[in-house]
Amino acid sequence: MKKILIAIDGPAGSGKSTTARLVARRLGYVYVDTGAMYRAMTYKVLTSGASPADEAAVVKLSRDTRISLVDGGELKVMLDGQDVTEAIRSEEVTKSVSLVSSYNEVRVLMVEKQRQIGAAGGCVVDGRDIGTVVFPHADLKFYMVADIAERARRRQVELSGTGVDLPVEQVVQELKERDFKDSTRETSPLKKADDAIEIDTTNLTIDEQVEIILSYAREVAVGHEEMQRK
Ligand code: C5P
Repeated sequence: MKKILIAIDGPAGSGKSTTARLVARRLGYVYVDTGAMYRAMTYKVLTSGASPADEAAVVKLSRDTRISLVDGGELKVMLDGQDVTEAIRSEEVTKSVSLVSSYNEVRVLMVEKQRQIGAAGGCVVDGRDIGTVVFPHADLKFYMVADIAERARRRQVELSGTGVDLPVEQVVQELKERDFKDSTRETSPLKKADDAIEIDTTNLTIDEQVEIILSYAREVAVGHEEMQRK
């Protein structure tokens, strides 16, 4: 079947990453976690001692940074040759990532890299601006949403898996702040593409989310094949 490109956007905790990863696995596609790329850049800023608020310093660092995603079973995130897969999930990185990713020049560099990875098709790419900016001609676009209470619950479980236990009110507050920054920034804000299919995951299981996307993906891939045969 023809290899297509699937874009998945949505706010934090809406289920994008887990779903995208599993859909990619089922289709034999590459999973591209663009949030991990912005997180890796943020980690570099924090560990280099620069302030995330210093745009010029952040941009300068970003020009001299190599980030790659290695998808071999579990996704590995490499920063200048170092494995930062776990380090980029820290609270410190999460708190600063929206600021670092709001800088236009940082985004230009990341988007260029994302387009290179996606050029061959056969990818599931998740993020905030994938269907609107990075791949406006993606074969399929989804926009995932979920109630804030459910998103906070998921994030709390995820954090607790890494040994961090936070009260749910604090998690709600952090999610709201991040969504606000991501959706109100000037460059490539988080928003639903006009032609994206919205999926509310509040009451869906992960399996159900995966199946919904797979059924659309099969339909589109078969449609492409038929067009080519004509
Ligand atoms: O997907 P995740 O929650 O790990 O993304 C972390 C942050 O990276 C987001 O809150 C957002 O600030 C930024 N991001 C972005 N554009 C993307 C993906 C992520 O600005 N395409």
